[in-house]
Amino acid sequence: MESIDEKLSQLTSAYNKMANHVNGMDTNCENMWVKMKTMEQAMAYMMEQLECVTKHVSDLNVSMKLRDEEEREKAEANKNREAPRARVTNTVMENRCYRCDHSGHKSLDCPLKEQNKWFCYKCQSVQNHIAAKCPNHRYVDDNKN
Ligand SMILES: [Zn+2]
Ligand SMILES: [Zn+2]
Repeated sequence: MESIDEKLSQLTSAYNKMANHVNGMDTNCENMWVKMKTMEQAMAYMMEQLECVTKHVSDLNVSMKLRDEEEREKAEANKNREAPRARVTNTVMENRCYRCDHSGHKSLDCPLKEQNKWFCYKCQSVQNHIAAKCPNHRYVDDNKN
């Protein structure tokens, strides 16, 4: 069985430890001891303070959790904002020519431009037409009779 002194010192250290983490708490213990007439009153006061501290700590945890979620949402929003830019950069980095379907130059620098030719994706070869105007492989609308 712990003595009341041991219990009190445990409570005091627990109280002080928690009070360090809580802003706006009354951490002035000296005045309390003066006001206390008996050990029982001191204990009751301690328990009251501990309950108060516990409540503050749980409030603190809730607000910290809310802040963390806010930060995470902000980070998520930033990530979404940056995503399209990253995709565009990747396309530029790839430097693929849509005119001749080769990489290493852009369509503006394509040698086929001089010859007024394109790589036709439908013919799968270099032609004097683009795939959209390919005469050999027209889009077939199956639903149309
Ligand atoms: Zn090219
Ligand atoms: Zn074609």
